[in-house]
Amino acid sequence: MNAERRPMLAANWKMHKSVPESLAFVRMWSRRVAEGAALPDPTQVELVLCPTLPALWPVAGLLDAMGVAVGAQNVDVGTEGAVTGGVSGHLLAEALATHVIVGHSERRRLFAESDAVVAAKAAAAFSAGLTPIVCVGESSAERQAGETQGVVARQLTAVLNAVPEGDGRLVVAYEPLWAIGTGQGAVPADANQVAGWCRALIAAAWGPAANRVRVLYGGSVTGDNILGFWHADELDGALVGGASLELESWLAMVRTVAPAPSA
Ligand code: PEP
Repeated sequence: MNAERRPMLAANWKMHKSVPESLAFVRMWSRRVAEGAALPDPTQVELVLCPTLPALWPVAGLLDAMGVAVGAQNVDVGTEGAVTGGVSGHLLAEALATHVIVGHSERRRLFAESDAVVAAKAAAAFSAGLTPIVCVGESSAERQAGETQGVVARQLTAVLNAVPEGDGRLVVAYEPLWAIGTGQGAVPADANQVAGWCRALIAAAWGPAANRVRVLYGGSVTGDNILGFWHADELDGALVGGASLELESWLAMVRTVAPAPSA
């Protein structure tokens, strides 16, 4: 955690929850906050909820009233055209998304998104005024072969070459594939080391602007282990999948990272 960078806690709901279920979650969260549940000051901690695409617009107003940002989970390149099924960054922004996850390992694997495609999507997010949360991370085999640094560097370099530097919007999420949804998260010290490599790479490309880029950790984060990542020097928060789907476990994480109210 570094005072120059506002920490982020982001929820990735993937293809979970219907629109009514998403609305019910957010309404119940809002009610719990009204009853006293912790909600960090948005100037101190940035909370981002990334529901399914059809739920973006329905939940955005409620979340905005709570100071919580809304993110999409994918963006297509280009602004409009003959792209069946495509959703541009501009359309996401019209649906009131302010953030978008780019290059999640599930999209790289299931939709064969290459580093070049991920980089183009990150650039598309920037062009639409969205904050891209770009996922990088190695597989178990790559880790065992000692290739973590090289894989992350390759994935990140493609993005750094494609997006504008310096406005502090880029967010990187280090998500080792072997830690996603497995219950076997990385050791905070190891995630911190990879985040340090990411920042060194960004600094080599962008100079001091690297200090403004946030690097998150994602992979089996829960209320029980989040603090280890939250307090790591090079990390600036967490991207959470499974543990964000259930209100009580989400509230536990939000409570854990919410700074104590000043007396
Ligand atoms: C993710 O898929 O982005 C993720 C971090 O999932 P989980 O927290 O379930 O490991």
